[in-house]
Amino acid sequence: HLVLRGLQRNFAHRAVVRALDLRVPRGQFLALLGPSGCGKTTTLRMIAGFEQPDAGSIHLDGRLLSDTSTHVAPELRGMGMVFQSYALWPHMSVAENVGYALRLRGMRGADLRRAVVQALEQVELADKADAMPHALSGGQKQRVALARCLAAAPRVILLDEPLANLDRHLRRTMESAFRRLHRSSGATFLYVTHDQGEAMALADEIAVLHEGQLVQRATPQRLYQQPRTAWLARFIGQGS
Ligand code: ATP
Repeated sequence: HLVLRGLQRNFAHRAVVRALDLRVPRGQFLALLGPSGCGKTTTLRMIAGFEQPDAGSIHLDGRLLSDTSTHVAPELRGMGMVFQSYALWPHMSVAENVGYALRLRGMRGADLRRAVVQALEQVELADKADAMPHALSGGQKQRVALARCLAAAPRVILLDEPLANLDRHLRRTMESAFRRLHRSSGATFLYVTHDQGEAMALADEIAVLHEGQLVQRATPQRLYQQPRTAWLARFIGQGS
């Protein structure tokens, strides 16, 4: 389980994430949903280990990762991240991009090739192994980024608006890819989005943030049928 307790982060004396309690069972697909500026990215960055909380703690499977005095480095957390900008190395081929983190860990030769091919097969891009990133479409780049993340077999995958730069048609295709990969990887997916349609289509449960606080955490259906506050009813009502 990923457990956030009393998590808080302040910028310029303002709490942008406040007293956040969240427990994500292993293997769940949880969407963190809320309008721009509600603190979603900051929450994800604390979980990833790019920022330290000002109060509270983060545990993964019983291990303390972060509190005000403990800080496990991002690369040692067993987590992978996918961002809205794909952040592929432009001078490396698709296969080199996917294998990069594995090489750093000392994997070489046939083992490395096998791991890379397997990860690319999962996103149906094995035929693009030798292509350079600039020759790929946005959706393909995002799938390479996902393959790179999957190759490291993380326990938790953090996704920050991964479809924001893609057109509508590609978003639908990628949504099915995410669902499929979530099932086959067994990893916990934590998926940040401001798009309620996307959250509803993808997630087992949705946690809605508003001004740094958790408003409601429920299944998509329950959230839609029984929003807990008037603000949330309006926000959901604006859905795409
Ligand atoms: P968006 O969807 O627009 O990315 P978000 O919900 O992910 O929004 P955050 O990026 O977490 O929101 O930002 C929450 C608030 O914290 C915003 O008001 C933002 O301006 C502020 N903030 C974030 N990072 C910093 C920083 N490094 N320094 C100062 N303020 C920050």
